[in-house]
Amino acid sequence: MISIEEALEILLRNIPAPKTERIPFYKSLGRVLAEDIVATSDIPPFNRATMDGFAVRSADVQNAPVELILGGEARAGGGIHERLRPGEAIYIMTGAPVPDGADAVQIVEVCPVSPCESKVTVMEPVAPGDNIAPKGREAMSGDVIIKAGRVAGPAEIALMATFGYAEARVYAKPSVAILSTGDELVEFDETPRADQIRNSNAYCLAAQLKLLGIEADYLGIARDEKEDLRGKILAGLERDVLIITGGVSMGEYDFVRDVFEELGVEILFSKVAIKPGKPTVFARKGNRLVFGLPGNPLSSMITFECFARPVLGRMCGIKRPELKRVQGVLLEDVRQTPGRTAFLPARIEWTSNGWSVRPISWKNSADMIGFSGANATLIFPGELAMLSRGETVEIMLLPDFFAR
Ligand code: AMP
Ligand code: MG
Repeated sequence: MISIEEALEILLRNIPAPKTERIPFYKSLGRVLAEDIVATSDIPPFNRATMDGFAVRSADVQNAPVELILGGEARAGGGIHERLRPGEAIYIMTGAPVPDGADAVQIVEVCPVSPCESKVTVMEPVAPGDNIAPKGREAMSGDVIIKAGRVAGPAEIALMATFGYAEARVYAKPSVAILSTGDELVEFDETPRADQIRNSNAYCLAAQLKLLGIEADYLGIARDEKEDLRGKILAGLERDVLIITGGVSMGEYDFVRDVFEELGVEILFSKVAIKPGKPTVFARKGNRLVFGLPGNPLSSMITFECFARPVLGRMCGIKRPELKRVQGVLLEDVRQTPGRTAFLPARIEWTSNGWSVRPISWKNSADMIGFSGANATLIFPGELAMLSRGETVEIMLLPDFFAR
């Protein structure tokens, strides 16, 4: 049995180089940018009025109130107004280019216009630069405005539009297959016999993958025998990553292991000091990776997040795909038999004293009903037997934490 940290080291050593692709920029939400976004023009592209008002020479209105000749108007998108002459003001709207010669905009509220609209009185002085966003203040043409590696959110998409990037180069998603195993399993639309249960892990894993933006292929249920397993594992090895659930615990594991051996799949680890999820298997064939996750629903779910997510996330170009961890104050005593680091369902809440952590009672590593109320997991260090109420503990947020 290896520690979680040792397992992570092995995982990180075996991640294939991520691939990239070009997609329409407006479809890049949540994708990791694989190249820098460079400003293709100055922004703002001209000295831009940031308020409705009058473009003036600040020197002309130093001794305000001052009456100026109203020399016309500048609208956003209404062309570039000719140069401002001394003693003149131009009615200007937000977003319009400030005419040459003007160095400030005085706001409309303090500038009454004469009844014949030929003159305007500027009631208060303005300083040079007031209410003008100068050309190139936000970026100069050629500036790197977004570094490769950033996840594209609404702001990044806005910037790609601003600079005319029709396409974005992003990291491609790995192809992933999910395979369930077990003679006891039937599908959700079947009625289980007295000794059967419905396959839930495949759908849970597909949802977890979806939270990473990955659409997985589902290969169905393999029976607990070599022939069926071999065929389905072989199909799974055509994808970048195959995730098998079930069939890796004692006894059953032999089937999967035999098939791995026959197919030249090398096992890199097969037991980790984690609870739930001890019999987690990680294997590879060439640059194809295989996860063998234990079949108990919570084991499958937790080991996916702890071991598959760090790998798959990096294959998607995400620098730190691990689930976020925070510290919180425990509201109840929790006990365990020491030995393995445990991930226990918990409900955390933000309070005036930081995060409070309430463990959720659950029956065993199959108890998805107990788990479903959790928004986080309490990390219980393997060497400890008890965490006491009031102690500061480490928690791992579930991937859909902010939606729960
Ligand atoms: P295994 O890891 O195959 O020994 O399975 C451990 C436990 O998880 C058994 O009780 C299985 O019935 C259950 N199990 C295995 N695969 C699934 C699945 N896909 N959906 C729900 N339960 C499962
Ligand atoms: Mg099984």
